[in-house]
Amino acid sequence: MMKDRLFSWLIDNLINSNKQRFEYPGFIVENLGNMNREIFLPEQLMVELEKKIDPPLAYRIGKRFGYGFARISNLPKKNSVEFNLFVDFFVKLVETTCAGNITYTRNIKINEIEFSADEFIICRKNGLGHIMAEGAIAGIWAYMLNDPTVEAVQTKCQGRGDKRCVIIAAPATELRKKGLSPISYAKVEKDCTVNQAKYAELNKVRPVNYANNSFKNLLDASLITYDKGKVEYNGERYFLVETSSIYEIEKVLALKTSGSDKKNRKILWEVGFNYGKHLANIAKISNPYQFIMDFFPALGFGDILVINKDGKIEINIDYYPWVPDAEKTEFILIRAIFSGILSQSLKRNVNLKLMDKHIKSGHLSIHFKE
Ligand SMILES: [Zn+2]
Repeated sequence: MMKDRLFSWLIDNLINSNKQRFEYPGFIVENLGNMNREIFLPEQLMVELEKKIDPPLAYRIGKRFGYGFARISNLPKKNSVEFNLFVDFFVKLVETTCAGNITYTRNIKINEIEFSADEFIICRKNGLGHIMAEGAIAGIWAYMLNDPTVEAVQTKCQGRGDKRCVIIAAPATELRKKGLSPISYAKVEKDCTVNQAKYAELNKVRPVNYANNSFKNLLDASLITYDKGKVEYNGERYFLVETSSIYEIEKVLALKTSGSDKKNRKILWEVGFNYGKHLANIAKISNPYQFIMDFFPALGFGDILVINKDGKIEINIDYYPWVPDAEKTEFILIRAIFSGILSQSLKRNVNLKLMDKHIKSGHLSIHFKE
């Protein structure tokens, strides 16, 4: 494993330098300037979600997430000393779990960057890529250039049969001059605000009560493998993202104030539920309670307790990753995933409802019950 150039790079630049920490059960944190709370998301879940939602909504999720991530991380802005160095660093960071062999060219005059990549997560499987390949890159580039009109278009994609994925990010006017038709979402700046100090405090690593595994434990035990930029569990890929990603999905698709319709809430639940069933199948789960308590904390989702009280399943999660939207969210996706895992394993329909969410002792706790 150590032969892998990227893996060595990951160890040297992220783990040894303490930029990313994988050894805490319940938490994955990253520090690229400011502290980030990170989670691993399953590629397969996102492949299915992206197939079922409208492209402009998928793009919006990605761009909001990319922009928010850049802001939380305090990424360097254009004209700063760190900017050029950071672009190189950032490409390597994306290569660690999201894509392989990235090359890029820049046209500084028009604020354009063009990436070419291998095995880009999600789009390699569905040929779409609105969330990560286009949206997230657009959001990050928009933040770094201080220009919310920056958008991104994937002009070639392995998932559509091309040799590599090619993504061009630039201000929308420049993209249109090239005959490209970007999805535009310039509203991003106004929407993505975050209280840095509160974020750092509520996501701080703390001792856990139930979680036994960190991500590093699963890697050491070879339950999760890492090779050439691919994190895999049971043959499926996972990728590392800042925690806003999971909130942006629900905010764009299902938050009542966002004007989204019932259709998208239903899609979100069904995609999560079906993914949970799929995961239960491929992981050959014998004890779903233990599986949820062991696996999800290692992916960074906090400290989880699953119990059966008088025949009803209850799940409590302490230290669930917090962003300002937590106060409004209903945690639909994670509830659906757990419901799917339990339903498939227990051979009966489990439908977890949100009973409670609160901030106590400086962290977010949520409680589900069937
Ligand atoms: Zn692609």
